[in-house]
Amino acid sequence: MRFDILTIFPQLLTSPLEEGIIRRASAAGRISVNIHNIRDFALDKHAMTDDRPFGGGEGMVMKPEPIAGTLKFIEKENPGGRVIFLSPQGDTYTQATAERLAALEHLILLCGRYEGVDERIRENYVDEEISIGDFILTGGELAAMVLIDSVTRLLPGVLGCGDSVENDTFSRGLLKNPQYTRPRDYEGHPVPEVLLSGDHAAIAEWRLITSVRKTLEKRPELLAQAEFNKNELQILKKNNLLEAVAKYKDINRH
Ligand code: SAM
Repeated sequence: MRFDILTIFPQLLTSPLEEGIIRRASAAGRISVNIHNIRDFALDKHAMTDDRPFGGGEGMVMKPEPIAGTLKFIEKENPGGRVIFLSPQGDTYTQATAERLAALEHLILLCGRYEGVDERIRENYVDEEISIGDFILTGGELAAMVLIDSVTRLLPGVLGCGDSVENDTFSRGLLKNPQYTRPRDYEGHPVPEVLLSGDHAAIAEWRLITSVRKTLEKRPELLAQAEFNKNELQILKKNNLLEAVAKYKDINRH
């Protein structure tokens, strides 16, 4: 998968790409990340990328020509990428969006700064606007990294074989079950006995019910997207969770 990032602060993006799974994915050729400095496409001798807003008001606005120039350069080199503008006014980013984007081959990520970008860029060059939440960042670079990180880990072969995305929080409308590692007893708090039992069926049952309980407690609305097989419904019934889940999800209780 190819990512192109448009920014006026390229340095901000380098170190997150040099660590952990993202670095490995890049070294293995599963992703390539190409950072473009919008300033390189400025038209005037001072390499200006922003200007005062028409109509007055605070702040500066990113000029259209350097952004359009960068986008045209990318399109010429590698045509057909999907242009995504990271913006607090976009659709809120979710795991479902990450899964949809992970199926594409080429994403072009436009990072705004200051008061944002000239509206004509959004109207004429952008395919999709994505927000990473209802808060304002100083720029789109961290949002672009959030997107690259979450999409990359979904690409086949990127996570080690021990890791799995299927049971991740959000992947099936449930928060993930609690996790424990050594020591068995930490400051007088022991690990749940069942996890040490070696009984795989009992462990799977414990994981399901703790996952459902956590979801009921913290994010019950997610349960509307959860799917349970017959065996899992029986486990929920046995643990008196069926009624609580049925408040959020239409399940066949028989
Ligand atoms: N004045 C703009 C407004 O009120 O909508 C906010 C501009 S913000 C200071 C500068 C840039 O940061 C935006 O153009 C966008 O690229 C990025 N940004 C800020 N918040 C974001 C968010 N929640 N998600 C994605 N990008 C964001």
